[in-house]
Amino acid sequence: MDIKIEKTTTPRQKPQTDNIPFGSFFSDHMFVMNYSDGHWHDARIVPYGPLTLEPSAMVLHYAQEVFEGLKAYRTADGHIQLFRATENIARMARSCEKLCVPPVPDEDYLQAIKALVKVDKDWVPTAPDTSLYIRPFVIATDPKLGVHASSTYIFCIITCPVGSYYPEGINPVRIAIEGREVRAVRGGTGFAKCGGNYAASLHASEIAEKNGFSQVLWLDGVEQKYIEEVGSMNVMFKIDGTIVTPSLASGSVLPGVTRKSCVQLLKDWGYEVQERNISIDELIDAVKSGKLDEAWGCGTAAVVSPIGEIFFGGQDYTINGNKIGPVTQKLYDTITGIQWGKIADPYGWVIPVC
Ligand SMILES: *Cc1c(COP(=O)(O)O)cnc(C)c1O
Repeated sequence: MDIKIEKTTTPRQKPQTDNIPFGSFFSDHMFVMNYSDGHWHDARIVPYGPLTLEPSAMVLHYAQEVFEGLKAYRTADGHIQLFRATENIARMARSCEKLCVPPVPDEDYLQAIKALVKVDKDWVPTAPDTSLYIRPFVIATDPKLGVHASSTYIFCIITCPVGSYYPEGINPVRIAIEGREVRAVRGGTGFAKCGGNYAASLHASEIAEKNGFSQVLWLDGVEQKYIEEVGSMNVMFKIDGTIVTPSLASGSVLPGVTRKSCVQLLKDWGYEVQERNISIDELIDAVKSGKLDEAWGCGTAAVVSPIGEIFFGGQDYTINGNKIGPVTQKLYDTITGIQWGKIADPYGWVIPVC
């Protein structure tokens, strides 16, 4: 793929990475490519700026949109690398299929990410635990109000430097079980990374925040009985020495790259990992009988987020004394170690950029 590069003539001041609010400060350039007449064309890297859309653009009305989220990391010797980017690319192809969006060819996709990160390599921060967040997305642009898949699209990649997720150390979070509202249902779009899923999750999350919780623990959309995810992260439990995480089989759980990495590491460390349905009753029983050793969310932004307290049926249950547990800590240290090139990568997860 030929990528035309137009560099900005007005580079912006880079933010201090100590305390940048996540996702609000964008790098100088963006990648853009258009889809029409059945193919992707006009790949270009241009100064970051507004996209022009008709008010009738389909994405604005029917949410035909998919996205991804990954990071570029700077190593101690100044190189820049990606973590399992091909997993994100493969996942977006599956999201595209569900949303009737034409997929971006795999090689072009990786080339686009690498080229953009190279152009804005000075935006990859250098302080410990900082990174460049990468947000690729596709939007439907046909100027039509008929409910139908669009015939034109824009594929865009923007990036933003992000500070350490845990500037004050890893503190466990307090979460609420969401018993009324659901995020996704069997047969729906739960497995796809699409904006619509997030729109549907805002209301419950806002109520939870007002009540002093940092996340909601989503239950399944059919019986509201089985645990699915925590906020926008996958969730794992260590119960009586065994690792249990919700199965992906229902199609309503997002197949996280961090989840997949955790499962692999845990198996290699000799843990039994069960990907299966786990009901909220089973979880509460495990807490009550002292068998719930650890609980944590996992996703690209935080890597792991220990769960210290869950609120269910009018009662707060504390997990592992509201402290991060040893397995959660080891996962964090190992995954971040590989991401920042501090420890060897025996899996081939790292993709060098420059
Ligand atoms: C992106 C996402 C995750 C985590 O996926 P990662 O690939 O690990 O970042 C989990 N749940 C939802 C709903 C997501 O959108």
